[in-house]
Amino acid sequence: MAAQLLWFRRDLRVRDHPALVAAAEAGEVLPVFVLDPAFARAGTTRSAALLTALHALHEATDGALVVRSGAPEQVIPALAAEAGATAAHISGETTPAGRRRDRAVERALAVPLVATGTPYAVSPGRVQKPGGDPYRVFTPFSRAWLEHGWRAPAPRPSTRWARGVESEPLPAVPAVDARLDWAAEEAALERWAAFLDGPIDRYDEQRDRPDLDGTSRMSIALKLGAVHPRTLLADLDRLAGQRSAPAQRSMLRYRAELAWREFYADLVWHFPRSAWHDFSPELTTIAYDEPDARFEAWQQGRTGFPMVDAGMRQMRAEGWMHNRLRMLTASFLTKDLHVWWGVGARHFLDLLADGDLASNNHGWQWVAGTGTDAAPYFRVFNPVLQGQQHDPEGDYVRRWVPELRHVPGAAVHEPWKVAGGYAHGYPERILDHGAERKEALARYEAARA
Ligand SMILES: Cc1cc2nc3c(=O)[nH]c(=O)nc-3n(C[C@H](O)[C@H](O)[C@H](O)COP(=O)(O)OP(=O)(O)OC[C@H]3O[C@@H](n4cnc5c(N)ncnc54)[C@H](O)[C@@H]3O)c2cc1C
Repeated sequence: MAAQLLWFRRDLRVRDHPALVAAAEAGEVLPVFVLDPAFARAGTTRSAALLTALHALHEATDGALVVRSGAPEQVIPALAAEAGATAAHISGETTPAGRRRDRAVERALAVPLVATGTPYAVSPGRVQKPGGDPYRVFTPFSRAWLEHGWRAPAPRPSTRWARGVESEPLPAVPAVDARLDWAAEEAALERWAAFLDGPIDRYDEQRDRPDLDGTSRMSIALKLGAVHPRTLLADLDRLAGQRSAPAQRSMLRYRAELAWREFYADLVWHFPRSAWHDFSPELTTIAYDEPDARFEAWQQGRTGFPMVDAGMRQMRAEGWMHNRLRMLTASFLTKDLHVWWGVGARHFLDLLADGDLASNNHGWQWVAGTGTDAAPYFRVFNPVLQGQQHDPEGDYVRRWVPELRHVPGAAVHEPWKVAGGYAHGYPERILDHGAERKEALARYEAARA
């Protein structure tokens, strides 16, 4: 049977992979990854996560993975011709840039480009209102999404990998401090199994506690496609009946979080403009400030607000930040520094190993009050209260802010009240939160008027 090219992108795995099944059924499979030169801009942690997943994929394909640098619309047709492939297979892409790229590759290919599946349980665009319109609000979307349902995970096919096409050497994984092994398929599934083995039962109660390891940390694997969300959903379904009532509530909560990921992807599918423009028309005239030295302090985790700084430093170090901190740091940028949400979204995408256009940019709009289902625009996160509520012993702050390690307990959230609080070089607050909160509300009111 003729060779089939399989171009991996956001699907760096071999299990539950419908496009791999389609390719393997049609012939021997040439697995390919294109190192896009644009990726050189990505931060070290992001690159390390991608390369971790690629090295694992190289092993999972018995060393057959072919890596080439260049523009996909040149590399893919050239490789298809070299291998004598009769089709090129992909998992369907759903973002505006990905769809554009795939159209360009399709035009340049002499053989068909076959898309099977997407990185979502329900492909964006499928869940619709009875009249065919897209949903704009999460709760009715999630109900319809659940009703629509999804297929069982795809079985792993027995695959003959094609050989003989030359590969560039796969770059080594840069050394980083972060734990990125979960970016790879096997390790992600192990983490998931360990999470199902106990922590998921407490998820509902602990998911807002950044001082605890209470969330699944599947976001990097989901972003890179090292696991498919359907695999996770199938496991939840299988286990739910065997667990206590509170554990079942936790599982439902977890499923709802996956539904948020699907909802945001659906929104970007229907409204690609919403990735970088206000989704809601209500606040488009709001007055923003240009990013200045205080913006840099936010980026560096030196605002003088311990909880904000801990979050920003965790992201820089690990390429991942706890959800509570994403909300708090985004609120701080948009409502204390009055900077446009897109500036923060860009910074997050540069640093997060799970950086995902739909979840990130709509997450930012949710906080800024310009999105769908937005937190009411008048909700301004208080950095001290957030710390006291969600990091009650101060452990999270002390982990990421060494200048405050000498301050015990919850006092770490208010070093200005502690004698010697600034003894180890922690910066003073760059602003007065109460005053900036008032300023934010005034600007929002003016825009609404
Ligand atoms: C300002 C902001 C920016 C964000 N940027 C991203 C991003 O770039 N990439 C990303 O994957 N998530 C993003 N999120 C959502 C959320 O913070 C992360 O998905 C979560 O923290 C990842 O950790 P986890 O895998 O341990 O999550 P868990 O709590 O274990 O959740 C399981 C999975 O559900 C999904 N999920 C959970 N919460 C959300 C949410 N609010 N929106 C969409 N999906 C969700 C994720 O796929 C996550 O892996 C952002 C949220 C905000 C407020």
